[in-house]
Amino acid sequence: MIDLHSHSCYSDGFHTPQALLQLALANHVAMLALTDHDTIAGLEALHQAAAGLPIQIIDGIEISVSWKLQAIHILGLKIDRTAEPLHTLAAQQKQRRLQRAHRIVENLNSLNIINLFEKACEVAGHDNIGRPHLAKILVAEGKAKDMQDAFKRFLRRSRIGYVPTTWVSLEEAISIILQSGGFPVLAHPDKYGFTWTKLESLVKLFKEAGGQGIEVVSGHMLPAQIELMARLCQRYELLASSGSDFHGHSMSSIGLGKQLPLPIRCQPIWQQWTPE
Ligand code: AMP
Ligand code: MN
Ligand code: MN
Ligand code: MN
Repeated sequence: MIDLHSHSCYSDGFHTPQALLQLALANHVAMLALTDHDTIAGLEALHQAAAGLPIQIIDGIEISVSWKLQAIHILGLKIDRTAEPLHTLAAQQKQRRLQRAHRIVENLNSLNIINLFEKACEVAGHDNIGRPHLAKILVAEGKAKDMQDAFKRFLRRSRIGYVPTTWVSLEEAISIILQSGGFPVLAHPDKYGFTWTKLESLVKLFKEAGGQGIEVVSGHMLPAQIELMARLCQRYELLASSGSDFHGHSMSSIGLGKQLPLPIRCQPIWQQWTPE
């Protein structure tokens, strides 16, 4: 079992890197990538916890990218977590997240939630604030029945709490991953709601900019979606990745390493990744 997409409490996941590791071992995951949103802060703790254990840790990040006025996600897998460009990027993205969070809080002023920003930081345990942290407070304050509902009512595109954000560009994100020795992978291509034509134009540009893989299997995908993603992957001669996108049991429908298998006709991106 391999899992090349997961989240810890250093972004919007529930578990600490140590607890994530225990789940991975229990689920017989032999190769695990931690890919927190726009941060590499959890990687050191994961390595320390995994030392000497029968699991290969892949350093990763999930970078928020702006493309055609929409946010898309690019994974950087097998990055060098000490690479300077990654640290610079993480600091910039954190500023963007903070600015956005403050603006979302302003937009949600009419809900009369006292200290919404501070409460979101507290529930996050850090200030690399994402919409899920704000969603949790909206639920706790009785403004939504669950996280999904909070997104649907307030945080999604076209809702009052939605703030368009200019993240790093696709080309720059790919270049930073490559400079950091990593493999750029287009995350969950089916999740953006693009038409097939638009998705193809994204994949084409991604490849031209140095992208190497696409996530053919993600936790939420059904066999029909996996088939489509495999077709996209093959047509553009990209490598295939697979990950659960696990955020914790209350937030994810499937467990760590429990995503469906990769179609055998795809070439796994991790095939040549031997332990260091
Ligand atoms: P952000 O990067 O702060 O904009 O937050 C994006 C994250 O929010 C995603 O990675 C998901 O974990 C979560 N998310 C997005 N849409 C929803 C939704 N409809 N319900 C629950 N969580 C969501
Ligand atoms: Mn997330
Ligand atoms: Mn994502
Ligand atoms: Mn993710």
